[in-house]
Formats: sequence, structure tokens, C-alpha cells
Amino acid sequence: MLGVRGDVINSIFYVIVIAALIMAGCSSEEESLELHQQQLFTFGTLVDISLVTDDPEQAQLAIDMVSAEFDRLHTDWHPWQDGALGQVNKQLSSLEFFSTSPSVISLLQQSNLLSEKSAGLFNPAIGKLIKLWQFDQLENEQFQFTMPSAEAVQSLLQQKPQMQDIVINNDTMQIKSNNPAVSLDFGAFAKGVAIERVIKILKANKIQNALINAGGDLKVIGTKNERPWRIGIKNPDQAQNPSAPAVIAAIKLHSDESLFTSGNYERFFEFQGKHYHHIIDPRTGYPGRGTRSVTVLTKDAGLADAASTALFIAGPEQWPEIARKMGIEYVMLISTDDRIYLSPAMAERIELLTDVEPEIIR
Ligand code: AMP
Ligand code: MG
Repeated sequence: MLGVRGDVINSIFYVIVIAALIMAGCSSEEESLELHQQQLFTFGTLVDISLVTDDPEQAQLAIDMVSAEFDRLHTDWHPWQDGALGQVNKQLSSLEFFSTSPSVISLLQQSNLLSEKSAGLFNPAIGKLIKLWQFDQLENEQFQFTMPSAEAVQSLLQQKPQMQDIVINNDTMQIKSNNPAVSLDFGAFAKGVAIERVIKILKANKIQNALINAGGDLKVIGTKNERPWRIGIKNPDQAQNPSAPAVIAAIKLHSDESLFTSGNYERFFEFQGKHYHHIIDPRTGYPGRGTRSVTVLTKDAGLADAASTALFIAGPEQWPEIARKMGIEYVMLISTDDRIYLSPAMAERIELLTDVEPEIIR
């Protein structure tokens, strides 16, 4: 009975960047452009920041601002530590109105809409289920996973926690829950919204070319050496077999595009020979079945994050319907029986680096 933590470092997408001066073939104006890279540990993962600019001081200032914003939002939006959301989770079961921060209200409003569009598959109101599966203990190396009882799972499911149970009063910045089973966990969304925000900070500080990569979930602006940023997508096989190729596909991103992946290898427990991963199907209360990973490309990083989680749960049969509902055009889904499904738009852009013949689904 051992709790095993998915290795965050291994779970990172491999971003193909040239960690040196951008030189060959540059015009004279570009010759002074340099790639500045820094790695932070924030949001429970390694975040790689790559900026292309001719001003090293400006690059460092921007990196410092990005780092501070990530840390602030991580504290604010952590579900069970003592920040703004942690406080909210302590008060929700009172079923009375109470005050919270604008950053939590904004997250609630955005995720409300996305939860509805995903037919409830993206459901940040299931924080109690996520705790029941003990994913709040994953970083605790002494922790021993125990299988949640079917009764405990059923009892939470029957109470139907959902985002629509939260009432928001925008004038007073107060919220309340109408359902005592609601607890909020934005693990599927907060990183995307945070990336969207730091990209805005970069733009406001005249950084035109950048890649922000938070543990494999990323957004780019501008170009690298006047060419699109080229990104490698992690091969889910690598989690079980370190000698498998690291990358299963590559894709070139245009300015303002985000690429997010949800994978069953990212966070999980092994228990009595079975694998219990962190993406919970709100319809069953158990880890979603049938999917190994889903990669979504779209402009908004928050949408990309919520959608990758929702499509993971939707699985090999239902993902095209949920993608349409959420307005997502570019999808790759790898199933537990090792099939690769692509949306037509994704099929046109992705470079698959495997012999598996993809199935293009309309
Ligand atoms: P991601 O890696 O973006 O797919 O997010 C997974 C994380 O989101 C988990 O670690 C949980 O904290 C949370 N989560 C799990 N299942 C769901 C779900 N059905 N809807 C919303 N959030 C979820
Ligand atoms: Mg997500």
C-alpha cells in the first residue's frame, strides 16, 4: 500500500527551444534579440519562462513580475491552504453569505460558464470528492492511500455538488453556497487563468515574444526567431517506460495560442496493483476511464485548461460533442487502448512522431 506521486518533472512537455542566442539567418534588427530563460517552482510545478527581447533588464523585470503574480495567484487559489479560496472552502458549508476576494469571484464566474458548457464534466465544485480520493495528500511522502468506500463516494454524488449551487453578489463581493456538499477545487483551471494573466503582464511590459510553460501547459506570444514556437507533446508511454520516446507529437504555435494537456500519468496513486489518477468523473465519482491524455489547442489558456480536463472525462466516445459545446477546434485524445483520435483541424497541424495511424473524427 504505497502512495506514489507522479513525477512533476517527468510529466512536463518537452518544449523544443534553443537555449542560446538567436542567431542564424536574423536580420540586423533581430541580431540583438536574445532568448532569456528562467525556471520557477510555482503552482506545484516547474514553470519555464522564455522571453525573446533585446533588453536583458526588461526581461528580468518581466520575469520578476511574472513570478510574483504566479505566487500570488497560487496562494489565492489554493483549495486547502490558508489563502482566499482556502478561506472560502472553510465557510461554504455555513450556507450563509460571506465576503471573498475579487480574484476568487472572477474565477467562480468564469468557471461557472465553462462548467455549463462542458455539460458538468468540468466541475470545480467536487472538491470533497477530490479530497475523498486523497489528492490533497499526494505531496506527503509518509501518506498511505486507502480506497474510498463506495458508500462515501455515492453519498457525495447524491448531493450533486455543482457550480450552479454558488450564488454571487457582485455588488457586495459576497458569495454563498446552497449546497453543503460543495467544496471548490480549481486544479483543472487555475493554472490556465494564471498563464493568461501573466501573458497580459508581459504584453503590458512590451514583451512581444514569449513562451510560458507551466509543467507542460503553456501559452506563446509572438515568435521565436521569426518562426512559430515549436512544441513537443509528451508521450504518455514515457511515464511507465522511461526508454520510450519522450515526445509523441510536435506542433507549431502561432501568437496567442495555448496548448494544454490532461494526462492520467500526472498525479496518481498505485494501490493493490491498480492505478488511480486525479481526474475524477463527476458522473461516477471515480477516476475517468478510457483516456490516457488529451491535448487541446485554443487561444485562451483558461479555456484550454478547463477543456482538456472535460474532454479527458468525456473520453473516446463523447469528446467531439463536448469539444463542440466548449468551442474547441483542436483536440488530440490518446485512449487507454492506445488509439490516437484527432479533430480535423488538429490533424492538419500536428506532426505525429509515432507509427500509430490516427483516427480523424468529425
Ligand atoms: P488537469 O490536470 O488540468 O486536468 O486538472 C486536474 C485537477 O483538477 C485534479 O488534480 C483536481 O484537482 C481537479 N479535478 C479533478 N477532476 C475534476 C473535474 N471533473 N472537474 C474539475 N476539476 C477536476
Ligand atoms: Mg485542466
